Amino acid sequence: MGELFRASTVISEKKPRRRILVAGGAGFLGSHLCERLLQEGNAVICVDSFSTGRMENVQGLLRSDAFTVIRHDIVDPLDLPVDEIYNLACPASPPHYQADPIHTMKTSVIGSLNLLELALQHKARIFQASTSEVYGDPHVHPQPEAYWGNVNSFGPRSCYDEGKRSAETLFHDFHDRHGVDIRIVRIFNTYGPRMRADDGRVVSNFIVQALKGDDITVYGDGSQTRSFCYVDDLIEGFHRLMYSRRAIRTPVNLGNPGEFTVRELAERIIAMTGSSSKIVHRPLPTDDPRQRRPDISVARRDLDWSPDISLVEGLTSTIAYFERQLTRQVGKLVG
Ligand code: NAD
Ligand code: UDP
Repeated sequence: MGELFRASTVISEKKPRRRILVAGGAGFLGSHLCERLLQEGNAVICVDSFSTGRMENVQGLLRSDAFTVIRHDIVDPLDLPVDEIYNLACPASPPHYQADPIHTMKTSVIGSLNLLELALQHKARIFQASTSEVYGDPHVHPQPEAYWGNVNSFGPRSCYDEGKRSAETLFHDFHDRHGVDIRIVRIFNTYGPRMRADDGRVVSNFIVQALKGDDITVYGDGSQTRSFCYVDDLIEGFHRLMYSRRAIRTPVNLGNPGEFTVRELAERIIAMTGSSSKIVHRPLPTDDPRQRRPDISVARRDLDWSPDISLVEGLTSTIAYFERQLTRQVGKLVG
């Protein structure tokens, strides 16, 4: 087991209801999830390798004695008594997951296996952060859960897409063979505060470029589409799935069905920031999906969930976050 940043009292005076492990808890989504679970009075153990995660994402949470951070790579087995597990550990941005593709695949396959073994041992419910990438470059639009996808097994995105598909299979089989209590979400592009400025995904790239007055790098002609969900909506969806009265053990799409071209996103961010940045075009990455939009009928019907936050509202708070980040950076350089 890795380095321990703070020992939790586990059973504090507040009597946390559950002991919850969040793998990848220091990342963008994981830190928001840890915050929500702590607010609800749980004991939260964040397990993270800090490959793309950052201590500053969870620094504020360390004030709570119900929060523990452990530096650990889930590719190595771990043993902790837990009631619930959320598996969010995996780099999510293409440049990051492609930097060490073999380790990305190991994280999704061996890491998920280790967490499933832990769930089996402690009879813990376990949640998997899967992805819209399991649909690949889809021929069915929008994508319902029943669509099996169009994924290349032999390319630069395959380590992520096929790793996540294999993880879903492991979850299926641990439930089928051992009765492990599983939940799986397929997350569509989600953005918000606590993304890294150098994350490499489109929303953070465009906002940082616009704020700095740098060129906005549109890959290809910008006609490819994505659907952008704000982080708070997504975390609410996680919660509804994990704690729904009826156990839903099949994958559920979570995302915002509003669909935009990448060019539209660039223009919107330039307008909202009042930036003088110009749009420039860069080569379209290999196997970049042409279109993506979630069919969220299952989440609407079974979880009564749909996103509330519009793209303009979500971008407003994300732009404000990056403005603060950049001001701090400049302050450090000057000071
Ligand atoms: P992120 O890169 O900010 O977070 C991933 C976290 O996992 C980081 O803290 C990283 O250090 C940690 N990690 C990576 N490999 C690890 C390992 N082997 N052992 C322990 N920790 C490890 O990305 P995110 O956007 O917060 O994504 C979180 C999860 O959600 C990922 O599993 C990702 O695949 C999934 N997801 C995210 C999106 C999205 O749009 N944000 C979309 C689809 C799926
Ligand atoms: N993209 C872009 N410029 C960037 C980063 C990304 O045009 O600086 C494009 C990318 O080619 C893709 C879309 O934006 O078509 C979403 O990319 P991202 O990496 O955010 O997510 P994913 O491709 O995994 O959906």
